[in-house]
Amino acid sequence: MTRKVIILGSGCAGCTAALYAARGNLNPLMIEGLQPGGQLTITSDVENYPGFPKGILGPELMVLMKEQAVRFGTEVVTGDITKVDLKKRPFKVWVGDKTYEGETLIIATGASAIWLGLESEKKLTGKGVSACATCDAFFFKNQHVVVVGGGDTAMEEATFLTKFASKVTVVHRRNELRASQIMQKRAKEDPKINFIWDSVIDEVYDVAKGKVTGVRLKNLKTGTSQDFPCDGLFIAIGHKPNTKLFEGQLELDAKGYIVTKKQPSMATSVPGVFACGDVQDSIYRQAVTASGTGCVAAIDAERFLTHHP
Ligand code: NDP
Repeated sequence: MTRKVIILGSGCAGCTAALYAARGNLNPLMIEGLQPGGQLTITSDVENYPGFPKGILGPELMVLMKEQAVRFGTEVVTGDITKVDLKKRPFKVWVGDKTYEGETLIIATGASAIWLGLESEKKLTGKGVSACATCDAFFFKNQHVVVVGGGDTAMEEATFLTKFASKVTVVHRRNELRASQIMQKRAKEDPKINFIWDSVIDEVYDVAKGKVTGVRLKNLKTGTSQDFPCDGLFIAIGHKPNTKLFEGQLELDAKGYIVTKKQPSMATSVPGVFACGDVQDSIYRQAVTASGTGCVAAIDAERFLTHHP
C-alpha cells in the first residue's frame, strides 16, 4: 500500500507534521526511531514552549505531542530507518527488511550532539561525560565540571550547570567566544564560571576507575599539556544533522543540513520531499521553530498532493 505521506522522525517537527497531515486527512505514517521523541526527550524542563507557563518536562511534552498526532489518525511504526530511495515517486523507505512507500515524504530526522571523538570520552559517556547539561547537571552537585565549546550552547550549559556545580570551567580552543554577546556576558559575569583559552581536551581520565577524575588540556599556542582535575565533562561543540541516509539524493549544505526553500515552503531539492526541524536548521534549533516548520511541511505536502495526484 502506498501512503500519501510518510514522516521520518518523531521529535517536535515530526509530531507536528503528523498532526497537521492527519487533520488534513492524509493518514500519515510516522516512523519513529528506536529513541523516539527527539532531542526534547533528553532535556528536563522546557520553559519556552508557548502554552506551558509553568514549564513542562521535555519527555512529557513529547508524549503529549505524539498522543495528539495519533488521536487524529497518525499510524506509528518504531524502528531505525536503514535506507531511502528518492529517485522517483512513490518514494521508498526501509526499516530493516520492511519497505514503506510514500507519495510524499517529510524528513524530520533532527540533529545529534557532536562529540570530541576520543576513545576515553566514549568509554566515560554516562559516567561523568555528557552532552546535555539539562539532563545531567543534577548529578554534579557541589562538584567541579568542565564545559568544552565557545558557542551559545556552551554558555547556556555552563550557566545552567552553576545551579548545581560549585565551579564550572569553560575550555575553548580560541581566545574569543563565538557565543552571542548576551550569553557571553552572562557567563563571564558569573562568579562560578572561569575560562581556559586556546586549549583543547585530548584525553579524559580515568577509564580504569570508570568515572571522570580529570582531563588533559593541550594549549594550542604553546603546545604544552597539563592534567586538570574535574568531576564531570560536558561537551557543547555543536550538533550534526542526521542526514547520512540522504547523501547523494538530496541537496545538503556544507554542514550537511538539508537545503529547504524556506520561503515560502519546506520543499527540498526533490519535488514531493519536504524537510522540517533541526535536520534543515542550524540556526534557530528551538522546539517551537521545529514544530512551526513541521506544520509548514505538512501543509506543503497536502498542497503538493493536490497538484500531483
Ligand atoms: P556553534 O557551532 O555555534 O559553536 C560550537 C563551538 O564549539 C564553537 O565555539 C567551536 O569553536 C567549538 N568547537 C567545535 N568543534 C570543536 C572541537 N572539535 N573541539 C573543540 N571545540 C570545538 O554550536 P552551538 O551548539 O553552540 O550553537 C548552534 C546554534 O544554536 C547557534 O546558532 C546558536 O546561536 C544557537 N543556539 C542558541 C541558543 C539560544 O539562543 N538560547 C542556545 C544554544 C544554541 P570555534 O568558535 O573555534 O569554531
